[in-house]
This record gives sequence, structure tokens and C-alpha cells, in this order.
Amino acid sequence: MTIQVPASIDKAKTPSNGYVYIIGAGPGDPELLTLKGERVLREADIILYDDLVSSELIERFDALKIYTGKRKDSHHFEQDEINDEIVRHARQGKKVARLKGGDPFVFGRGGEEIEVLRNNGIGYEIIPGITAAHGASAYSEIPLTMRKISSSVAFCTGHPINKIQVPDADTLVYYMVASSVHDVLDAVVNKGWKDDTKVAIVQNATRYNQKIFTGTLAELRKREKAVYSPALLILGANINQFIMDNWYSKKKKVLNTGDNEMMYNSEEYIVVPFPCHRVEGGDRGKVNQCFKTIGEYSVLLFPNRFSVTYFFKYLHEYGKDVRYLAKHKIYTSSKAASADLLNYGVIADMHIEAECSGEIINMLRQKGVENENILLPASNIFDENLVNGLMSLNNKVTPLSVYDQGPREKGATIELDFIDEIYFSSPACVRNFKSCYTTIPETIVVTTHDQQTEDEFEKLFIGNASPLL
Ligand code: SAH
Repeated sequence: MTIQVPASIDKAKTPSNGYVYIIGAGPGDPELLTLKGERVLREADIILYDDLVSSELIERFDALKIYTGKRKDSHHFEQDEINDEIVRHARQGKKVARLKGGDPFVFGRGGEEIEVLRNNGIGYEIIPGITAAHGASAYSEIPLTMRKISSSVAFCTGHPINKIQVPDADTLVYYMVASSVHDVLDAVVNKGWKDDTKVAIVQNATRYNQKIFTGTLAELRKREKAVYSPALLILGANINQFIMDNWYSKKKKVLNTGDNEMMYNSEEYIVVPFPCHRVEGGDRGKVNQCFKTIGEYSVLLFPNRFSVTYFFKYLHEYGKDVRYLAKHKIYTSSKAASADLLNYGVIADMHIEAECSGEIINMLRQKGVENENILLPASNIFDENLVNGLMSLNNKVTPLSVYDQGPREKGATIELDFIDEIYFSSPACVRNFKSCYTTIPETIVVTTHDQQTEDEFEKLFIGNASPLL
């Protein structure tokens, strides 16, 4: 079979049975994505992404994003299901980006996915990523090879524990050691590695919360068993005296609650984005584009009050009012959304009262909402379960970001122990931050944009009775 590669990245030229890019996202630092990966992710219609892909990276792209990992709070995807999803979206003629942590071909199951694509006659290509071993090596100053000390390196896995291999190499890097560090160390000792071999565990490599544990083989074997995730175990003589004092650990980690990244120079600082201001707006370009082609949709589904408020605000700014939607069926899935619609003179054609997206889908199924072209005005963080569920009823779904959420709704959490400084850009940021964290450890330096912000900070945090302040 010949696989036709598109001559250009132009969306219109995606082959009719779709095209899949299997992309390595790198180990965590979003800047470690390749230029090619970035370009393709910008062009993609849909991004299917895994657990280890950093949220900071994924948020940069506009495509419909579907999480295919194993997080406890969402559907647990098995590999067969992921394969089916990739094929299903490609068959709809879409440009599919399959985004994986690190490199797709290093313990990434990329090989299995291309086999499925080949069997289904779907065109694909692979964009490599920086694997965790290279990220950890660079960000903790452990050269993987070194003249006269190490002339070979092996990448191994610590899982499953009954199949741990100890290849004959000078430097060993073990992936997937979260709960099997001691099993790996035992296996290495059984193979004759000496007690004084240097060992490092690098957790969250290349992320602001990178943490290194180091010692000799004998010392680490004596330590209590712990769970490290995600982490690599590295053994070999290349682990040098600089490891704890590495260049990355010297940088100050600044939590930026606003959106001005330019204030901090990158030699001294790592900026960790944690936007706490609620920006109304979503993607205005896309919103206007959607208004232009509104006739393509048969249903508008409003999940909440904000989706109604901002949708109509922008519709009015676009120079249209409710008459522009006369041909559409208008559905809501919350009481507040229906109430807000009335403010614009609209009585919803269907109102669904449900606790979760699963229930909404069940009710829509009962009501026969199938084969529709649905526009779903919502926030920048789409409810993937709702989108997937709507698609499983053979609907075409276009989520449209009409407002942005603050971090609390995103469920993002930051480990403040790793943060040296917090920057507040406005009083609203201080208030929203307060709703996520009631206290700020006293080791953290706080800077504020202006006096008003400073006043708000003092009011909410300094007046706090917490012993930490
Ligand atoms: N394809 C990935 C590996 C996936 S297997 C790659 O090339 O990196 C998952 C394992 O990768 C984790 O259990 C952990 O051992 C390792 N890993 C991924 N990201 C990591 C990170 N930021 N820090 C340390 N280990 C990481």
C-alpha cells in the first residue's frame, strides 16, 4: 500500500481518510517540544494526549483535546480504546495529533499505534521527542556517557518487577520505577554491581518540581521504600559531585499569577504559569469565525451560565442579536443557563437537568439527539467527557471557547514547596489565589504589580492568623 503524504500542511489537503502524527512532547518543560511538533499541534484538528504531557504545553493549542491517560478522576483508557479513537478520528478526515510524553518510541507504545494505523491504511508520521532520560540527564547534570568513565548506556524498565533486566553497560537508566526502586537495586546487586556505585533518582525531571535523590547503591538500598512518580533511576560512575547543585536547581522558580512573562530573565528564573485572573473572552478569532458560519450548526448547547453570557455578549459585539439564531435548536444542560437565556429572550428548546456529563449524554440519547452538528460554547477547558459522549451519539461537536477559567476550575495544583517567589499582577489574582491556597509559606518572596494589589495581598494573607505567616 502506498501512503500518501500531504504536500503541504494546509488543512484542506489532509487526505480524506485523515492523517495521524505521533508526536513526542518531551519530558515536561514545554519548551522541549520540537519545532516540528509545535507546528503540527497548531495545525491539528484534534489532539489525543497522554498522562505525562504537561498541562502547560497542551494549553497552548486550540485543537479539540482529548485526554487518553489513566488519571483517576476520568475515564481510564486502555491501549485498544486509544487505538480505536485514533482510527475513528482519522477516518473522519481529521488531522490527528497523538501526543505522548517523552519520545513515542521509548517505552511509549508508539510501535503498537503505527501497526494499527498501517492495518487500517491510514497515513502517519512520527515526530520524535526528548525522552525522559535525556531530559533528566541535562537538567541534573548527569552525562550519560563520558570519556574514560562510561562508554555505553542502556535504557531499561523497572516494570514488571519479575522481568527487570540488567544489561552489560556502564550507565543504566531505568524508566517506570515509581514503586520498584528497591527491586531494581536488588537486581543490579545480583548482577554484581558494587555497593559504592553511584545512584540517582530524578523525579519530575525538567519540571519546576524536579527533585533528586542520590547516594550509593548500599545507601539507597537501606532507605525506606517510597513511591517516586514520574521518576528515573540512573546508575553509573558519571553521577558527579555537581548533581545536587545543578544549573536547573539554581534558578529561582517564580509562580506567575498574571500573564506577563517578560519581567523575569530566563538566566535566573523559571516562570511557572498559574494564571489566577479570570479573563472573559476565550478565543475571539474563533468565536467570530463561528458566527460567520453559524448556519452550519443545527444545535447550540449551552452547558452553563457563563457560556450563555459570553456567547451573547460577543454575538452583540458581532452586530447580531437573537434573531440570528432563529433556525437553531437551543439546548441547555443547567438551570442557570436556561435562566440566563431568558434574559436574551430565548426559551430553550430542551433543558436537561443532570449531575454529570454521563447523565447528560444518557438523557440526550433518550431524547434522540443524534446526527446533529452541535456548537458547544464553553470555557477554554472543555469537558472532554461531554464532547466524547456527544460524538459517541454520532453528533459532530465543535467546542467553542467563549470564556477562560481560572486555575481552580482547571484543577491545577502547584507544589508551593518548590516555589521561591509569587508574582501577583492584580487584586483579582490575589483573590483567586486565595481560593486555591489559604496560606503562603513564609519562605516565599511575594511581589505585587501595584499598590492596590499589595493592599489586597496584605488584607487577605498578612491579616491571616496562620502560623506560617
Ligand atoms: N515515552 C516516555 C516514557 C514513557 S514511560 C519517554 O520517552 O520519556 C513512563 C516513564 O517515563 C515514567 O514512569 C518515568 O520513569 C519516565 N518519565 C517520564 N517523564 C518523566 C519525568 N519528567 N521525570 C522523570 N521520569 C519521567
